[in-house]
Amino acid sequence: MIDFGFGLSRSSAVRLDEVDLTLYRKLEKLEPGVRTCMSCGSCTATCTAGPWSGMSVRKVILDLQRERASAEGHGEVRKMLSACMLCGKCSMVCPRGINTRHLILSLCRIYEEKK
Ligand code: SF4
Ligand code: SF4
Repeated sequence: MIDFGFGLSRSSAVRLDEVDLTLYRKLEKLEPGVRTCMSCGSCTATCTAGPWSGMSVRKVILDLQRERASAEGHGEVRKMLSACMLCGKCSMVCPRGINTRHLILSLCRIYEEKK
């Protein structure tokens, strides 16, 4: 094999038609507004905890939609949720009017039920 001096990372492509949306559907029932998220990132840009913890409501929602979060695991989503201070700034700037603070609480409840 020829050594080109660099490697290729694994593809991060997601087959959306094969994704297990169980967790996302549970959240959808509690917070139907999540369907209207357009991934604009306003919530992330204003997040008090973001700069030091990587917390991002936008990423939390995308991870759920792309099966990068699991109910059993202690993955990145749970780590981000634990950094949230529930200040509510993200709710105030969401152009879709999603109650992101409540969304975070609902998601924490879903994870708690799975314990
Ligand atoms: S601000 Fe609202 S619409 Fe924009 S990414 Fe965050 S939750 Fe989604
Ligand atoms: S409620 Fe949580 S996610 Fe929203 S801005 Fe405050 S710390 Fe960030």
